[in-house]
Amino acid sequence: MRLYNTATRKLDELPAPPGPIRMYFCGPTVYQRIHVGNARPFIVSMWLKRWLEHQGYDVTLVENITDINDKIYAAAPGNSAQFAADASEWYIEDTGDLGLGRPDHEPKATETVPEIVALIEELIQLDLAYPAGGDVYFRVDRYPEYGVLSGRLDEDSARNPSEEEEQSSLKESPRDFALWKGHKEGEDTSWESPWGAGRPGWHIECSAMAEKHLGPVFEIHGGGLDLVFPHHENEIAQSRGAGREFAQLWMHNGILRFGGEKMSKSLGNVITLRDALGEWGPETLLMLFLGAHWRKPMDYTDETLAAAKARADGLREVFRNPSEPGGSWGELAAALDDDFNTPEALAVMHDWRDHDLLRRGLELFGLGSLAEQEEAPAELDELAQRRATARADGDFHEADRLRKEIEAGGWEVRDVAGDSGYRLVPKA
Ligand SMILES: [Zn+2]
Repeated sequence: MRLYNTATRKLDELPAPPGPIRMYFCGPTVYQRIHVGNARPFIVSMWLKRWLEHQGYDVTLVENITDINDKIYAAAPGNSAQFAADASEWYIEDTGDLGLGRPDHEPKATETVPEIVALIEELIQLDLAYPAGGDVYFRVDRYPEYGVLSGRLDEDSARNPSEEEEQSSLKESPRDFALWKGHKEGEDTSWESPWGAGRPGWHIECSAMAEKHLGPVFEIHGGGLDLVFPHHENEIAQSRGAGREFAQLWMHNGILRFGGEKMSKSLGNVITLRDALGEWGPETLLMLFLGAHWRKPMDYTDETLAAAKARADGLREVFRNPSEPGGSWGELAAALDDDFNTPEALAVMHDWRDHDLLRRGLELFGLGSLAEQEEAPAELDELAQRRATARADGDFHEADRLRKEIEAGGWEVRDVAGDSGYRLVPKA
């Protein structure tokens, strides 16, 4: 299997099964209900985990929850810890409703502070970091590989853009970024450290959580495309700087656009995952994501959602008709093993009429429910039997009346070859 690697800018081959494949994906910062765009790394990583496991890999997926962050203090002044705990629960609940299962580990930054502090101490000893006025900063000039992942190799393009840190006069260089932030007025949580009370910076949280659960080297690191710089560049500098091999392959999923722009809270064009699930249901949402290649941008519009719903309905319809042999699992595997091409996999499945094959394919993506047909109520089935008898007797007037009665009950009757001569399907 091969996947596009941001670090090498080409398709790289994964080791042969059983691997192991250890994966770390950056999860959400919990300061609101997550929006549909935030769900993309979760969906892509869970699908990939399911596919790799199906292929015989030993997979460990870690997806963190960032529950210490500036945005959380801003969202819930004076109540940040409780708010972050609640928002973590919302995230688990909303992504749980997608029906894809959960990552193997979902560590929180608040549970990882001792490991974070230890890693910062190591970096200070290596002269890669320096304390300054209660903060600790990473000394970018001491890490010559800085900027290689993102291609931002010169000083100006590699300035670390955090507003708060930009204003800090404590930094030796604008490229430096905070590993530890001293406690500030108005922040209602803080942790003890050798540099005084404070809290970790966002980037070091991920370096420490990945190592804690996966060890010093792992196969895949993923996250949204907007995390390449500075977040992932900084993770690399911290972990490789401290002598860890860290991630081998970097996967960055494309953004989700809404109203032509990236869906983001700062732009104010946000649909929460919860609202999207309420309006469209998990099948349509998953079908929308399935139809887009993970690396490409995708659009969340009424049109793309209607098209996704039509695709789901089309596949559901296959199970209402007799199963026909044809198609091969190998076509699906070829699409997924080639850079996890889910739109191609979907196109392959659309041609399948073999119920078993199609059900197995859909189950990979959490869409097995499309194969589950509702049973018609017994009284409607009785009407359908009477209709079949009426037809056999040549009483087409009565047969037509019974058909309408069945339709009034929300079902339609179809004439098919076979024992009963009919099949009941829910009315579209
Ligand atoms: Zn991260």
